[in-house]
Amino acid sequence: MTPTYESIFQIIRYPDPLLKGPFKPVDEDFAIYIRSIMPKLEATIKAHKAYGLAAPQVGFDRTFLLIDLSTDPKNEDYPQNKKIICVCNPQVISMDEPTIQSEEGCLSLPGVKIKVPRKSYCHVKYRDEFWQEKAVVFTGLEAIIFQHEFDHLQGTLLLDKISRLKRQMAIKRMHVVTKRNQMRW
Ligand SMILES: [Zn+2]
Repeated sequence: MTPTYESIFQIIRYPDPLLKGPFKPVDEDFAIYIRSIMPKLEATIKAHKAYGLAAPQVGFDRTFLLIDLSTDPKNEDYPQNKKIICVCNPQVISMDEPTIQSEEGCLSLPGVKIKVPRKSYCHVKYRDEFWQEKAVVFTGLEAIIFQHEFDHLQGTLLLDKISRLKRQMAIKRMHVVTKRNQMRW
């Protein structure tokens, strides 16, 4: 079933200043609110076949992000029923080598793929949506998604991590894709 407009959040796209911040920490009351909107957040990720989402991308000026590999067919070691990971107020304890080149897209930059260096290991402290303290080591695809979404919480997009020329080309490509989608709809 195609999700209705009301059942998912609208994605905030570049160059909307909402993506730049500043963002506030999640407090315990806001964590309760996150729990109440979790089905809608999850539906938003699934509707876009995304692996993750950062709060600013759906219009919240708060520091939380979501990682969702539950339906990734390539990820054999990830149990299909494993639920979405909600990371509030993440603090990076350490990130480690080796660095890997990761080709990434972003819901806020439609049609754009950008290669960026990522660490293959991140040790992170955070609170989950139930306000439980967690200390977790993300590896593999989870580590890459974490870094991408964590960048969003600093107001950093993929476009901010590449040269000016590549950035101009990516923005041009985004305009073409956006225009094509508008024509189709
Ligand atoms: Zn993104």
